[in-house]
Formats: sequence, C-alpha cells, structure tokens
Amino acid sequence: MDMIWANSGDSHWIEEPDFWDRHLPPKLASRMPRAVVSADGLSETVYVDGQSFERRLPTVYRNKNEDGLTMVEESSARAPGAGNPRLRLADLDHEGVWGELIFASVGLWQFMIRDPELAREGVKAQNDWTASEIAGVSKRFVPTAGVSLLDVGDAVTELQRCAGLGFRAVCLPIDPPEGHDQFNRDTWEPLWSAAEEAGIAVAFHIGTSDAKDLAPHRGPGAMVQNYVEQSYGGQRAAMRMVSSGALDRHPRLRLVIAEGGASWVPFLGDRMNEAYRQHHRWVRPKLSRLPKETLFDQVYTSFMHDVSAVATLTAMGYNNVMWGSDYPHVEGTFGHTQETLHELFDAVPAEARHRITRGAFLDLFPDVGEPPATGAS
Ligand code: MN
Repeated sequence: MDMIWANSGDSHWIEEPDFWDRHLPPKLASRMPRAVVSADGLSETVYVDGQSFERRLPTVYRNKNEDGLTMVEESSARAPGAGNPRLRLADLDHEGVWGELIFASVGLWQFMIRDPELAREGVKAQNDWTASEIAGVSKRFVPTAGVSLLDVGDAVTELQRCAGLGFRAVCLPIDPPEGHDQFNRDTWEPLWSAAEEAGIAVAFHIGTSDAKDLAPHRGPGAMVQNYVEQSYGGQRAAMRMVSSGALDRHPRLRLVIAEGGASWVPFLGDRMNEAYRQHHRWVRPKLSRLPKETLFDQVYTSFMHDVSAVATLTAMGYNNVMWGSDYPHVEGTFGHTQETLHELFDAVPAEARHRITRGAFLDLFPDVGEPPATGAS
C-alpha cells in the first residue's frame, strides 16, 4: 500500500498532568483546568477555577470484522507521541502525516475561566511553552496560540506577542465567554485587525463552548445528538464572521473550523446567499461580495472520516477543505490513518487529492513544506 501523505488541519497535544504546577505560581496553577479520569475509565471530571463538569470519554471503532464493527475503549495517551514532540514525529512518519495544526486538549477549557488575571497568565504560560517545546522542535508543527477573550485588549496584546514568537494560528472558542458580545459585534474588530495584520489564522475548534452547552440532549439518541450538536457551533462562528462583514472588512483574514466536517459549507453558503438576496432591504451591513463567496474563500474546514467532505471540492467547488487526523484523540485516525486516507482518496483525481490532503493547509501554513518525495502521493 502506497503511503498517502497528508497535513492535518486538526491535531492536539496532551498536556502533562503537572503542566500548570511547573509553569505558574501555586495560587494560579491550582485553578487551571485539570481532568481526573473516573475509576472505571469511562468518564472524566474537568475542574476549572471553581467550576467542574463530568464528561463521557469517547468509545471508537477501529476495525471492521465479520461481526461488523469492533468497539474498543482506549485512552488518548496510547499514542507514544501524544505528549512528547520528539516521539510525535515518529508517530507522524508512521501514520503518513506531515504538517499539523495543533490544538491543546485539557488546556482548551481555559475558555471557562472568568478571572481576567488567571486567564491572561494561563495563556501566556501555555504560549511560551508551546513556542519553544512544540514549534521549536519541528517546522512540521503549527501550534495554535491561546488568548483571553475576557478583555479584547488582552487578546490583542497576547496575539501580537505570539506573532513575535512565530505563531501562525490562534485558537478561539466557538462562542465568546458568557456575558460578552458575540463575534458578529464590532467589539472584536481590534482582534480581527491584529490577526489579519500578523498573518495569523483564526482557528475555531468545535466543542469549545461552555461546558453547560456540551451535552444539551437527553434520552433516546442523545449520544449521537450531542456529538452532532458540537458541529453546529463551528458553523455558527463561520456564519457570524461572514454575515457581520468581519471577513469582508479583513479580506486577508483566514478562519479554520476544525473537526466539524466540510460538507456544511456549500449548504451554509447557499442559505446565506438566499437570505442576503431575498431580504436585501433589511440586510445590514451590506457586503462587498455575496456571503457564499467570502465563506468559500476565507473559511477553511477540516474533517476526519466524512465521506461527503471530498465531494464538497470535486462536486461543489469548495476548495478550502482540509483533512485532519485529530491525533491523538480517540475520535481521530491514529492507528488507521493510511486505511482512512486510502478509503477516502483512492478514487479521487490527483489534483483534488493533493488539495484536500496537503494543498489547502499549505495556503495557510506554507512553512511546513512538502513531505519527502519518495513514494509520496
Ligand atoms: Mn480535534
């Protein structure tokens, strides 16, 4: 089986459990996000600055066999390089993943912090460590910076500092902290200007809303409903950034919606165009081009297994679709990346295959370059 090399528009690092203790003073460290796995290993409790919530840990299928699907329960920590950037490169070489856009894991829950000082110091510590210990190890790693959204001035200051540290992407939650203006408001203009100016892509990872919004469904089908529900937040973020004119005013700003699939993009574009056209008299602000055009041009998306994602490019003209491994999370493709890539792309023409597996990613992060040519496709 030939190796299909791909860049991943959605990967994660797993923080060491004592990360905050090593990088922040004790009175701050004890309030930072930490996850405690239950005795049976089926769920975890996440503690963030006086708040806590429990969540079920994912169960995934790895193999098809004669009986159907084999369900296995495994910890994210099973990937040798989950928390070690040097071992990580060996994992990537084995899986056929070249460059990676890398998000935090437990660190993503920093969005729940409500104390501006704690939020500010937490992202600073994380960004400093990430710049030296992840980005500093290989140009194949594109880690996302964190910023506090409790104060837009703090966010801009940290984003600019991160640009100086070499970051090319910033991770934002799909909703601002509760009580703060939504992303369609002018409040956030300074942040969009700073990101555009610095050439930093704004990456929204799905599922990064407040914990209370994580699992709104109960009863029959709730597991599937809650999983699917997570994708909508990313779609709403893209919709707000397009229809409010934020992307129109910042034509060089690029968004990434990570882990939420891609085939929703043509649908959303058509719906926004219909609203814009049919209700033109009431539409504010007016945009320099139709919403779908901006969406297709400035919003990049990543998917893992979705068979419909490839057709968004080949049949619907949406070019900014990226594959993503979600390494090393269990929803992702670790251990079966090549099988997944072959299933998705064996029948896809070379140009489209290259665009989805590597080309779209290179628009945003050209420095990762191309993998070694030997046997690569
Ligand atoms: Mn992910």
